[in-house]
Amino acid sequence: MQHHLAPTTGNGESKTRPHFVLVPFLAQGHMIPMADMAVLLAERGARVSIITTPVNVARTEAVVRRVRRAGIAVEFVELTFPCAESGLPEGCERIDLLPSYELLKQFHDATGLLRHPLTQHLRAQRQPPTCMIADSCNPWTKGVAEELRMPYLLFHGPSCWNMLCARMILRHKIYEQIGDPFEPFDVPGLPHRLEISMAQTAWFITMPGWEKFREEVWEAETAADGFVINTFEALEATYVECYSRDAKGKKVWTIGPLSLSNQDPDDKAARGNKASVDKHRILLWLDEKAPRSVVYVSFGSIVRHSPAQVLEIGRGLEASGQAFLWVIKEVDASSPEVEKWLSCGGFQERVGDKGLIIKGWAPQAAILSHPAVGGFVTHCGWNSVVEAVSEGVPMATWPHFSSDQYINERLIVDVLRTGVAVGVTVPDAHVSAEEIEKAVLRLMDGGEKGEERRERARELGRKAKEAMEVGGSSYANVTQLIHYASHHDQARG
Ligand code: UDP
Repeated sequence: MQHHLAPTTGNGESKTRPHFVLVPFLAQGHMIPMADMAVLLAERGARVSIITTPVNVARTEAVVRRVRRAGIAVEFVELTFPCAESGLPEGCERIDLLPSYELLKQFHDATGLLRHPLTQHLRAQRQPPTCMIADSCNPWTKGVAEELRMPYLLFHGPSCWNMLCARMILRHKIYEQIGDPFEPFDVPGLPHRLEISMAQTAWFITMPGWEKFREEVWEAETAADGFVINTFEALEATYVECYSRDAKGKKVWTIGPLSLSNQDPDDKAARGNKASVDKHRILLWLDEKAPRSVVYVSFGSIVRHSPAQVLEIGRGLEASGQAFLWVIKEVDASSPEVEKWLSCGGFQERVGDKGLIIKGWAPQAAILSHPAVGGFVTHCGWNSVVEAVSEGVPMATWPHFSSDQYINERLIVDVLRTGVAVGVTVPDAHVSAEEIEKAVLRLMDGGEKGEERRERARELGRKAKEAMEVGGSSYANVTQLIHYASHHDQARG
C-alpha cells in the first residue's frame, strides 16, 4: 500500500531527476533523521520514497505537513510488518514499542523479512528508483539493491567517529581477540588513540546469537557504494577522511545536522512523536528563565530507568539548585514508586517553578534551540548530540547501553571539549544523586572553564549552521549526492 503525499511525476519525468528509496531502521533515532533527509533531497529536486510500516506512518504528521507545504515529491510506502510471524506482539513495529528488549532479536529478524515485500514493491514500479539509501542497521537491504541493480548507499545514524571505530573493530575482528567485555583495548587505525572496552561498543559486535547479523553488517558495509552521515565536515573532517580512505576512497557524504534542515517551530516541536505536552507551555516556561540558565535532561527514545534511578536523578537535580527541564519516559513515570514520589514526596513543591517535568515525549529540537537552555544531560545518542551541537549547547555525558554512546562521549569530552562526563564507564550503571549533582554543577559552571566550554560549543553551533546554508559543506554534499544519483539514472538510460 502506498501513500502519495505529493504528486509524483508522470510519464514526462526527466531521466535526470533522481528517485531515492530510503529504508530507515525502525527506531525513532533512525527514522527522524531519515525523514529530514527525505525532505532535504526532495526540496532540492529529487523524488523520494520512504519505506515504512503502518504504525510508523501514523507518526509522520510533521513530515507530511512539510511535504504538503512545499509541494515536493516524497511518498511513504507502507509494508506490512511481520509481527506475528516473528513472535512479536501486534503493533510492535518500532524498537521503543517493544514491551521488553529481550525481543530485540525477534525485532531485527522481523525487519529482515521485509526484504521480499520491498523487492516486490520496487519491481512493480514502472521505473524503479535510481538509488537506495538504507540504514546500516538494515543490512538485508544489500540483497534488494543488488537484485534491482541500483547504487547502494548506507546511512549511518551514529557519528562518523563511531562508525570509523566500529569499522576498525569489524575489519580487524577484535572481538575474536578480546574475551572479557570489560577489558580495555586500543582501537587500531584511528587518527588518535582511543581506549575502550567491548562493552562500550555496539551490542551486536559481541553478543552471542548476533554473529550472523554482525557478518551481514560487515558485508553490507564493504558492498556499499558510499556512505551518508548526519554530521558536518567541520565537526568530523579527520574521521570522514580516514573513513573514506579505509573504504578504498568511497565517498562519505556528510549532510547534517539534519535537525537544522527545518526551522518551522511547529514541525520542530513534532519531530518523531507528537509532544506529550503543549509546546507553548514549555516555551512560555523557558521564556521566563534567564539565558543559558536551564539544564535540559533527557535520554533519547530507548533508554529506560529503574524507579530507583529516576528518584536519584530527581534528587541530584534538586540538590544542584539549577533550573531544569526533565523528561521522564511515560513507562518510567507511570511506575507506582515514581508516581508516588513525584506526587506525595514533596519534590514538586520543593523545586517549585525551578523545575519542569515532561512525562512522555518532549519537543526536543524546539527546547534545545531556546536561548534559556544552557546545558543538556544526555545519554549521547548521536541525534541528541548533533542537535545540541547545532544549538551550541554544552553537554553532561551519561552513556547508558552498548552502542555508539560511549564513543560519542569521548568525542564530546576529549576532542570537542564541549562536555563534562558524568563518569559512567559500564552499561546500566546506577548513578547516584551526588554524581548527578556534581555533573550538573560542572556543566553549568559560571567560571572560566565553563565559559571556555560554552564558547567552544557556540563556535561549533555557528559552524553547524554554516554547513547547512547555501554554499556550506553539507549543502554542497546534498548537491553532489543528487548528481551522483542522476548520473546513475542517465547511465541506466
Ligand atoms: N526525541 C524527542 N523527544 C523525546 C525523546 C527523543 O524529540 O522526548 C528525539 C531526539 O530529539 C532525537 C531522537 O528522538 O532526535 C533520539 O535519538 P538519539 O540518537 O538521541 O537517541 P536514541 O533514541 O536513538 O537512543
